[in-house]
Amino acid sequence: MIGHDSAMGGARRDGVARQDGGVSSLRALPGVETVLAELRGGGHPHALALEAARTAIARAREAVRNGGPAPPTAAIAAEAQAILRRLARPSLGRAVNATGVILQTNLGRAPLGERAIAAMTEAARGYSNLEFDLAEGTRGSRHEHVRDLVRRVTGAEDGLAVNNNAAALLMALQVFARGREVIVSRGEAVEIGGRFRIPDVLRESGARLVEVGTTNRTYAADYAAALGDETAAILRVHRSNFEVTGFTARPEASELAALAHARGALLLDDLGSGCLVETVDYGIPHEPTVGESLRAGADLVLFSGDKLLGGPQCGVIAGREALVAELRRHPLARALRVDKLTIAALNATLAAYLAGAEREEIPVWRMLALDEPQLRPRAEAWARAAGGRGRVVESRSVVGGGAAPGAGRPTWCAALRAERGAERLTRALRGADPPIVARVEDGETLLDPRTVDERDDAHVAAAIAALTAPDAGGRP
Ligand SMILES: *Cc1c(COP(=O)(O)O)cnc(C)c1O
Repeated sequence: MIGHDSAMGGARRDGVARQDGGVSSLRALPGVETVLAELRGGGHPHALALEAARTAIARAREAVRNGGPAPPTAAIAAEAQAILRRLARPSLGRAVNATGVILQTNLGRAPLGERAIAAMTEAARGYSNLEFDLAEGTRGSRHEHVRDLVRRVTGAEDGLAVNNNAAALLMALQVFARGREVIVSRGEAVEIGGRFRIPDVLRESGARLVEVGTTNRTYAADYAAALGDETAAILRVHRSNFEVTGFTARPEASELAALAHARGALLLDDLGSGCLVETVDYGIPHEPTVGESLRAGADLVLFSGDKLLGGPQCGVIAGREALVAELRRHPLARALRVDKLTIAALNATLAAYLAGAEREEIPVWRMLALDEPQLRPRAEAWARAAGGRGRVVESRSVVGGGAAPGAGRPTWCAALRAERGAERLTRALRGADPPIVARVEDGETLLDPRTVDERDDAHVAAAIAALTAPDAGGRP
């Protein structure tokens, strides 16, 4: 179904309504019971059907008050049916991501691999040993399930998963720095997105922010000068969604670790994306990995599960055993804990890395690895579906999600021209079922196959054909 079409639009004009100010037309409108009786099928909840009937009647009344004729009962019932379909549709639904942004936060970031999906399904369907020690028959800890795999894939002494990386950072700061100082470079006191600002998180945690350096250049000496008895930690933050280029300076993690440790303070590294592999192998600039940060001496490394890791939404804290154990015992660990479905998906995702199978199994890496031979023919097929209105253009897919800012991979997109404008066509694509999300560039609608599951290719082609056909009456 495309767009919102009112069944009332086609009602006949009727002179009576205008002559008597619409009173007799209002009387001619059906009652709720009449419209309800027409709403059959679908087994929709009565409350929704009632709301749909009332809304449709209210709209008809409004149309009459505005001087229009009373719509026939059948038209009101059809309107109610359309309203009911919208009301009954679950709010969260599948979407086709043709934007070429791999980690699109608004579209749910990382799609999960089949292993993770299977693990989640299994954990969802029945009972599990979530917090049960099967050998002893006693209470166990959900954290045990994550610990071992995080250790193995990152090389950390210990690891803990919480709700997301924002929660991980808040927790680490609150547990280890409340009432004390945390040193952050001015170049890293950033807003990651969605109002997530490092200075705000610090304030919420009860830690005191000590900013050092400048936006573009911060030296080890700046940190050294700020370190004192009140310092709980140095916090390093991945800038995530922007680049500072040119005249810049940033100390190595190892220098900061040495400085912090000499004063009994911690080095916390908020890596953001949680990369476990070498991104250069995928044609994008080097992203700092979790292992590198730990080897450089970070005491705790924090990262998201659903960015470059390619797993479910969660925040992982990896690092020194004594520190992670303290976090695990803290009441916040309970408040921010992950559920069994997340644990199942995270473990399956980490297991793919352990097996060295991330390129094949984890969609984020699989998508990044796609090259011209896999992409161009798909873009060509979509362009052909648009008849004379489509062509193939070279463009760039980007990682998104705050990883590798500014970096991208060459890609091939279908570029569509629509008679009534690219914005309109792009909106109409979003009205497809399932919706197709594309982007507008230079007056054309661009669809990037890199982020589209091949199983959706035919759906995309059909939607393009329907929306760009010369007889797509009233459509773009
Ligand atoms: C994305 C990001 C966060 C927030 O992570 P969520 O998992 O979305 O809560 C925090 N810090 C950095 C550096 C990030 O890139």
